[in-house]
Amino acid sequence: MDFTIKKYRQLLISLQKEGYEFITFEAYCLGKRRPKFVILRHDVDEMAGNALKIAEVESQLGIISTFFFRIVKQSNKPEVIREIINMGHQIGYHYEDLATTNGDKELAYANFQKNLAYFREFAPIKTICMHGSSTSEFDNRSLWKTYDYRDDGIVGEPYFSIDFNEVFYLTDTGYCWDGYKTAVRDTAPNNFNLSFHTTDDIIQAITEGKLPAQVMILAHTLWTDNLLKWLFVFFREKIRNSIKRASRNNAFVKKIYSGLVKLYWKND
Ligand SMILES: [Zn+2]
Repeated sequence: MDFTIKKYRQLLISLQKEGYEFITFEAYCLGKRRPKFVILRHDVDEMAGNALKIAEVESQLGIISTFFFRIVKQSNKPEVIREIINMGHQIGYHYEDLATTNGDKELAYANFQKNLAYFREFAPIKTICMHGSSTSEFDNRSLWKTYDYRDDGIVGEPYFSIDFNEVFYLTDTGYCWDGYKTAVRDTAPNNFNLSFHTTDDIIQAITEGKLPAQVMILAHTLWTDNLLKWLFVFFREKIRNSIKRASRNNAFVKKIYSGLVKLYWKND
């Protein structure tokens, strides 16, 4: 089984063995770079409790990562946030304010500042990253065409701060590492010409010295050793991917799907 906590631990250990240094995204933005490094980024889209298991494994291995929390209730769990900080990890804001305000930039920026201030009650936050909001017509990053996050003491946003031709970007969308093929926004075109499907494929590449020297890994918080949870996510992602594909060519399917997504994330 892939995308279990056990498998995640194997991945981290193989990186350590091959001499990769783990640096936080914030450290990267501040210029503390090394010749061979990995940045671990976790987007806590949902199932926030799972983040704890991931944070624990990393702590046991002496690794610090960054967990990006959304403001929605499936992600924003104060007790989880506190525990993660206590383990020594960093947190960031996983913003989606332009999508939630239906493109009202002024309101979106006001919400952004309010939400950022809320998360800063837990820890000083220096980095943010956008949530894909794949069913919204608004790209959350467009906010920065009008405003500048640096005015809010933010030093980095992966999509603006990283050259993905230098740093190889791995993302686990949909319980596989080549799910970017169905991703709408969360993609980073690059010249590496490398693609992996399973975590074992990546581990093999690491051991053979074929993984690039500079890597960012986006691991969502869906990795679990709990079989029921795992099965739930596995089948849901399968269904979601076929719907995403179908809705590309079918406006009706697209409308129904985005309505259902809105209902699921409704914040009350
Ligand atoms: Zn997200």
